[in-house]
Amino acid sequence: MNPSPRPDFAARLRQQQQQRLQASLQRRVRAASASRPGHIHLDGRELVDFGGNDYLGLAGHPRLIAAYARAAGEGVGARASHLLGGHRDEHEALERAVADWIGYPRALLFSTGYMAAMGTLGAVLGRHDLCVQDQLNHACLLDGARLAGADLRRYAHADAAAAARLLEAQSQRRALLVTDAVFSMDGDLAPLSELAALARREHAALMVDEAHGVGVLGPQGRGACAAAGLGASEISIWMGTLGKALGGFGAVIAADDLLIDTLINRARGYIYTTALPPALARAMVTAVELARGADAERAHLGQLIDQFRTGASALGWQLLPSPTPIQALVIGDSAATLQCAERLQAAGFHCPAVRPPTVPAGSARLRISLSAAHRVEDVEALLGALGRR
Ligand SMILES: *Cc1c(COP(=O)(O)O)cnc(C)c1O
Repeated sequence: MNPSPRPDFAARLRQQQQQRLQASLQRRVRAASASRPGHIHLDGRELVDFGGNDYLGLAGHPRLIAAYARAAGEGVGARASHLLGGHRDEHEALERAVADWIGYPRALLFSTGYMAAMGTLGAVLGRHDLCVQDQLNHACLLDGARLAGADLRRYAHADAAAAARLLEAQSQRRALLVTDAVFSMDGDLAPLSELAALARREHAALMVDEAHGVGVLGPQGRGACAAAGLGASEISIWMGTLGKALGGFGAVIAADDLLIDTLINRARGYIYTTALPPALARAMVTAVELARGADAERAHLGQLIDQFRTGASALGWQLLPSPTPIQALVIGDSAATLQCAERLQAAGFHCPAVRPPTVPAGSARLRISLSAAHRVEDVEALLGALGRR
C-alpha cells in the first residue's frame, strides 16, 4: 500500500486517454514511406496525398534534391548555435535570399515556425503589453503570447472591427496585433488591409504569419501580404516557414534591423538551440529561387482549386470561403469525420480528419490540401470518391 497522499502521476493520463477514446479524439501516428510527388505511401499502399503542405511540389523537385545532396557532401550538423559558431555562410545566404525575395531589410532563420513564433513573441512582448490575436490563429502564436506573459486578447475570426474594439479599449498599452495570413485549418485569408490600417491608426505593431501564404500567393509567391500590396512599412514582423510550399524545413522572420537585433539578443528559441544543418539552408536557397519562378505551378494550382470548389459544391458539400489550396469540408461530428476519411483512404486518397482541439468543438473536418503536384485527373477522381454529401 502506498502511504503517500499524493495523487498517482499516471492516473490522470490514463483518465485523459479514456476520455479521448470515448470522444473519437484519440490520435495515432502512422509511418509513411517515401513516395512520388503528390502521393503518400501509407499502411502498405500508395494513396494520392491531399494531406500535405507541399503546395508547389518542391519537396521532391529534382533540382532541390540535387542541391541538398551536393551540399550534404560537406557535412551534416551545424555543430553549434548561431551565436556560438554555428552560423554559417549557408545560413547567411538563405537569410539574404529571403529578405531580398520578401522585400525586407533583414531576415533571421529559426529551426521551425513554432520556434520562430514562440521566440519572437517572447522577445518583443512583456508582462504589461497587449497582444491582440485572431481566435483561429495558429497554436504557436497563441502559445508565444501566453509564454511572454502578455495580456492576450482574442477577437472573433477575421473580424477587424472586433480587433479594433480590443485595441481601443486599452489605448495606453504598448500593443502587437498578430494574425495568420492564411488560416491553416480553414484556408481563408485574414482581412490584411483592414488590420494594417487598424494597426496604423492604433499605433500598434503588426505581425503576420505567412506559413501557408508564402510560395503560393502574391507576385513571385511573396505571400498574402504582398498580394494585398502590404510590405515592410505596414507589417513590422513578417513570418514565413520553409516546411510547406518551400518543400524543406525551417522558418524565417523578416523585419527591420532593430527587430532582428532584438531577436538575436533576446529570442530564446533562436539563442538556445543548434543552427539548422547548413546543407538544408543551402538547399533552401534553391527552394527560394524555384518558388520565385514557379508562376506556372501557381497557375496550375489555381486551376485545381477552382476545379475542386466547383465540383465539391455541385456535389452538395459546404465549402469555406477559401481561395487557397487548403479546402476544408466541415462535417462536425468527429466520429463521422473519421469514417469519411477512412472511406476515402479505402478509395485511394489521403484526406486527413482534423478534430478538436486543433479546430473548435463541433467543427471536425476533412482538410483537403491541393498541390501543383496533383493532376486534374487526381482532383476529378477525388470528387468522384467524395460523392454526394
Ligand atoms: C505550420 C504552421 C506553423 C509552424 O511551422 P513549422 O515550421 O511547421 O513549425 C506556424 N504557423 C502556421 C500558420 C502554420 O500553419
